[in-house]
Amino acid sequence: MAVLHKEYIKFNKEIKLSTKKKDSLKTSRKELRKKIRKWFEENKPKEIQPKFTSQGSIEMNTCINPISTENDDGTKQYKYDLDDGVYFIEVKGEDNKRAIDTWHDWVFESVDNHTGVPSKRKTTCVRVIFADGHHIDLPIYYKKDGTIELAHRSKSWTVSDPKEFYEWFNKKKNPQIERIVRYLKAWKNFRENKNTNLKLPSGFELTILAVNNYKSDDNDDKSFIETIKKINKELNRDKGFKCLLPTTPKNQDTFADYSETRKNGFLTTLNSLNNDLDRAKDESNFKTASEILINNQFGTRFPKGEDKTDSGKSNSLKKSLGSAIIPPKPYGN
Ligand SMILES: [Mg+2]
Repeated sequence: MAVLHKEYIKFNKEIKLSTKKKDSLKTSRKELRKKIRKWFEENKPKEIQPKFTSQGSIEMNTCINPISTENDDGTKQYKYDLDDGVYFIEVKGEDNKRAIDTWHDWVFESVDNHTGVPSKRKTTCVRVIFADGHHIDLPIYYKKDGTIELAHRSKSWTVSDPKEFYEWFNKKKNPQIERIVRYLKAWKNFRENKNTNLKLPSGFELTILAVNNYKSDDNDDKSFIETIKKINKELNRDKGFKCLLPTTPKNQDTFADYSETRKNGFLTTLNSLNNDLDRAKDESNFKTASEILINNQFGTRFPKGEDKTDSGKSNSLKKSLGSAIIPPKPYGN
C-alpha cells in the first residue's frame, strides 16, 4: 500500500489560495463595492443604499486556485469565484422593499461597464466578470426585523443567512477538513474541465457533504478515502440523495431541484473517484498510485509519487503472491 499523504499535502499547497492572490481578489472586490456605492449615492435616495458582507469560500479559507483555461484569442483565464452579498436594510417605518427584478436591475446597472466584460444576470445574483476570468457574484438581500431574504428570481424571496453558514463551517472545521474540502473542489474543477457537460454539486454543497461525512486520520489520503466512501454510501442509500442545509433555511434539501441527469452524473463521477481511490490504495508503487489519481481525478496538479515500491505493506503484492507462499527467513533456524 502506497501511502500518498505527502503527495496530498503537496497538492494542497498547489491548489490553496496564496495570501498574495487573496489580497488581489479582495482589492478587486473593494473596487467593485466602491462603484456600486457611488451609483446608488448618485441615483437613489439615502434610505436605499447598499451594505456589503463578504461570503463564500474566501471566508472559510477553502477557496482554491482554478485550473487555467484559454480564451478563443489564447489569453489565459483564471476563474476564481468570489461572492459578495449586497444588503438593503429596511429603514424603520419605511417600506423600501421593491420587486425582485427591480433590485436585480439596479445592481446590474450599478456595475455596468466596470470591467469591459458584460455582466450576467443569474437567478440568485448578478455576476461581474473580469478580463482575467475571475468573477464576483453579487447576491442581493433585503433585511427586515432581523430576517434576511435573498432576492431569488425564480423562487421569489427566500429566507437565507450566508453569514450563519460560514460561521457554522468555521466552528466545525479543522485544518484537515479545510484540506478535504479543497481536494473535493479541485476534483470538481478537473472533472468538469474534462467533460464540459458535467455539472457536479457546487463548492457550497460539497462543503456540507464533506463536513457531515468527515473521517479524521493522521494521513490525508486515508481521511479523504474514508470521507468519500461515507458520502458515496450515504447518497446511494434508498432516498439518501440529499444535501440538507445546516443553517437557515435549516434542513432544506439543496439537491431537491437536481435533474436525473445531474444526479446520475454526480453519482457516477463520485463512484469513479471512490474506485480510483481504492485502486491507488491497493497499489504498492507510489508513482503508479499517484498516476491513477492524476489521470482520472485530479490532473497534473497532483504530484507524481516516487517510482518506488512500498513492498513491506503491499496489499496487492500479498494478494498476488497468495498466502501459501511464505518468504524464507533471512537467517534460517
Ligand atoms: Mg459564486
